Amino acid sequence: MSLNSRILIGALLGVILGLVLRHYDPASALSQSVLYVAGLVGSLFIGLLKMVLIPLVFTSITLGVANLRAHQQMHRVWQITLVCFACTTTLAIILGLSAAHIFQTGQGLSLALFQDNMQGFEAAQLSSGEFLQKLVQGIFMNPFAALSQGNILAVVVFALFVGIALAVKGEQYPQLQQLFNEAFALCMQLVGWIMQLAPLGIMALLLKLVISENSALLTTLAQFIAVVTGTTLFHGIVVLPLILWVFARVSPLAFWRGARPALFTAFATSSSAATIPVTMNCLEKDLKVSPKVSGFVVPLGAQINMDGTALYEAAAALFVANLVGLDLSLGQQFILCVTVMLASIGAPGIPSAGMVTMVMVLQSVGLPAEAIAILLPIDRLLDTVRTAVNVEGDMVTSLIVDKHTQI
Ligand code: ASP
Repeated sequence: MSLNSRILIGALLGVILGLVLRHYDPASALSQSVLYVAGLVGSLFIGLLKMVLIPLVFTSITLGVANLRAHQQMHRVWQITLVCFACTTTLAIILGLSAAHIFQTGQGLSLALFQDNMQGFEAAQLSSGEFLQKLVQGIFMNPFAALSQGNILAVVVFALFVGIALAVKGEQYPQLQQLFNEAFALCMQLVGWIMQLAPLGIMALLLKLVISENSALLTTLAQFIAVVTGTTLFHGIVVLPLILWVFARVSPLAFWRGARPALFTAFATSSSAATIPVTMNCLEKDLKVSPKVSGFVVPLGAQINMDGTALYEAAAALFVANLVGLDLSLGQQFILCVTVMLASIGAPGIPSAGMVTMVMVLQSVGLPAEAIAILLPIDRLLDTVRTAVNVEGDMVTSLIVDKHTQI
């Protein structure tokens, strides 16, 4: 059986087993041991992905940029990548805002309903100015510190610089270039091995998620959850595949077959950064994208291209506005769009990162940052689908860039 099918079965089994075990007493020995083993296997899978992540991101971006120059296609790849990122994110924001308007999420509920959640919660206040300052500070730092702390954004930036230096003066460092080539191939070899554990890892993560989800708040916020999930799925199942078909002539079915392992891993781990190795593996092995393209687009996209997060933040801001009974003017909604774009770019690809940058989005239009307290308990659930769509956006961009450049 192919790895791809085993991953599908693992994901289904995880959800079904989780649903069955929800009926057991959580304190029983059976539930406890299943949760323990699932926690262990899940952490092992994520741990292995994280182990290979930093060396992989560093070598792939460096090589990606260095190789682009050699093919005289550098500008084209850059341009298409950034245009795709900007267009898909903008579309996602518009979708999120429209859905929240159409379905009037939050109407009929009031902040008082959530008093318990809000009590004792103090949102870290971060204005857009401070956020931008923090972002810039986090971008340029000692590369060794960045590598050892796993600060991906700073690693990406340093790798871009090294890549550019190699591209401009490559003939002076042939051995270094060779070293990067070999290190990258070695990382991908490790990824291939780690992928063997993906079916089990994904099963364990999903099982744990289903068992531990708190259902009380889910029912109160059911409409909001349904609207956000439905719209995110619409973006992932209709909008992105349509863009892919129009600009790269890849059929949705072929894409789904090749992208499945990455989408499931993103869904189960809620981290586009941790999914990078799997995303690259799928693009290169199954979707036949040039490693030079995926090695450049994917690590960058996992940091700055987040369609699902942007859509969620736009919809959530309008939800909070409705809760507090505030009607946002057109101007305020425009500010909201710009801040959401910035927030989705600045959110690192880790679980619930969108929640952190959400504070800034709320503040940009004068909404209470404390409302985060209502969104936090349901975030683990919403983070699954939006992370999968975040990763899908990177894969679609890679395929489009690959189609329109010959490298
Ligand atoms: N978990 C998301 C990701 O890794 C980020 C977010 O919280 O929206 O892509």
